[in-house]
Amino acid sequence: MASPFPKFDVGLKIAEITAIPTSFPLPKDSNVRLGIGRAVKRDAVIVKVRTESGIVGYGESHAGRAPGAVAALINTTLRTLVLGMDATDVVGVWNRIYSRQLASHGMGAGCSLAMSGLDMALWDIRAKAVGWPLYKLLGGAQKPIPAYAGGVSLGFQDPKDLVAEAKAHVDAGYKAIKLRLGDNVKDDLRRVEAARDAFGDDLEILTDANVGYTLEDVRRVMPVLEDLGVRWLEEPFPAHDYRSYATARTFGSLPLAAGENHFTRFEFSRLIEEESVRAAASRNACASRPWPRRTSSRSTRTPR
Ligand SMILES: [Mg+2]
Repeated sequence: MASPFPKFDVGLKIAEITAIPTSFPLPKDSNVRLGIGRAVKRDAVIVKVRTESGIVGYGESHAGRAPGAVAALINTTLRTLVLGMDATDVVGVWNRIYSRQLASHGMGAGCSLAMSGLDMALWDIRAKAVGWPLYKLLGGAQKPIPAYAGGVSLGFQDPKDLVAEAKAHVDAGYKAIKLRLGDNVKDDLRRVEAARDAFGDDLEILTDANVGYTLEDVRRVMPVLEDLGVRWLEEPFPAHDYRSYATARTFGSLPLAAGENHFTRFEFSRLIEEESVRAAASRNACASRPWPRRTSSRSTRTPR
């Protein structure tokens, strides 16, 4: 029987998958030092999926500092597992990789990183097949959202230089900035104080320790950050250290945030159900679809 949707329901089998690893050095005078070390390069893994009918979808897998390794996993094992499947069957593709790789050969972060770019590319194909922007396909709408300035910047530097760098973001219209902690408690707090003094109470200040803190560090910084009106403390501890997150949240009322290095709904579920954190931040290129995509908007922040 002919498909009732002939326009976009034809030739959607996955014909080719190619992952392209890239890496380029940062200029010496533009890199910053933060809790995970000095940023000396930027990596990326671009994932390109082509259907039999020629629709091409693109995604990005987080490179995890090893773009060649992540790309190799996609170009070999994952490619073999899903070639020939329907590109629009994003749940089926996820389940196939889950059963044949994640569940059966360990819940490896490497596989989650690799899956994310493939997943994005398949969603890109779905949207292109029906001619909608992806946000609309996911049930979302165009609307303004709050944004903060940060990224890989505002790092460990003299407070005066930090304020000068932050001022460029504030002048550009940002109402919030994210500062890097995890250097040492004394210098970290000097930087946050300098930013608060320079910009007053109207600026939202967020902080991110990039897993550079101990429990004792958090015990010391939390009351000071609360006094300075900081909005959250992100990733004080490694992703696997759920116990420290649960202990640290008893030190005060400053919300802890985490999630950039938690993969799949299984790890997000634990983070949320144990109420260790009050803000879940996903890095889409390594999350392997943590948010619901069929029944809710992305902003609901519920693990799939
Ligand atoms: Mg972070």
